[in-house]
Amino acid sequence: MPRPKRISRPVMLQPPPEPASTGPLTGQAEDYLKAIYELEQRGAAAGTNDIAARLGIAAASVTGMVQRLHRLGLVRAERYRGARLTQGGRAAALQLIRRHRIIECYLVERLGFGWDDVHDEAERLEHAASDDLIARMADAIGNPTEDPHGAPIPTAAGEVDETRLPSIADLNDGESATVVRMSDRDPTFLRYLDELGVRPGATVQVVARAPFDGPITVRVGAVEHVVGTTAAEQVFVRPEA
Ligand SMILES: [Zn+2]
Repeated sequence: MPRPKRISRPVMLQPPPEPASTGPLTGQAEDYLKAIYELEQRGAAAGTNDIAARLGIAAASVTGMVQRLHRLGLVRAERYRGARLTQGGRAAALQLIRRHRIIECYLVERLGFGWDDVHDEAERLEHAASDDLIARMADAIGNPTEDPHGAPIPTAAGEVDETRLPSIADLNDGESATVVRMSDRDPTFLRYLDELGVRPGATVQVVARAPFDGPITVRVGAVEHVVGTTAAEQVFVRPEA
């Protein structure tokens, strides 16, 4: 008969061992890596407040996770300067982004979801899907290179087009451009763009803008719309040569 295990009181002086170092990252840790990646794409290290805003959490809770990711070698955290991904952290972030964007494509292509409805589903499923499942989903829909919102899908090897594009708000008066991608975080924003006919591939032209960051008049096809600066800043375009 097995002897009962001796129960000892935990020693609380030492921090607990890192669970993530012995197994896959938690979904929360993955979300941090993705947030830091997206913030870095704007050209600077990711500050604590930026990460907190991006994840919708209190800044006070960010420091601990950033330090944990630092100890795991996924992030380089520098006091006052913010966090940057290491090569390993970047690879993990890109794999998560690949899972997210392929899931979005699959939901639209195969399951009839609207483009405004898939982001939150993908936010949940991205942590659960295995690489094999993602490879099969990608295969089943012809290995797409962009998600339904025009964002590039990293390859399985972690390659991705990181070209920074101007937004509609950056265009000069009279300038035309092709819509490439837009922020997909807010479904009501996507439905609004849908009403305007602003989708990846659409042609837009800035007709006029009110002074002092006022609204911008944009022609989409043959129709003119007045849009707010905040909306215009979230639609990324390739200006016509
Ligand atoms: Zn998304």
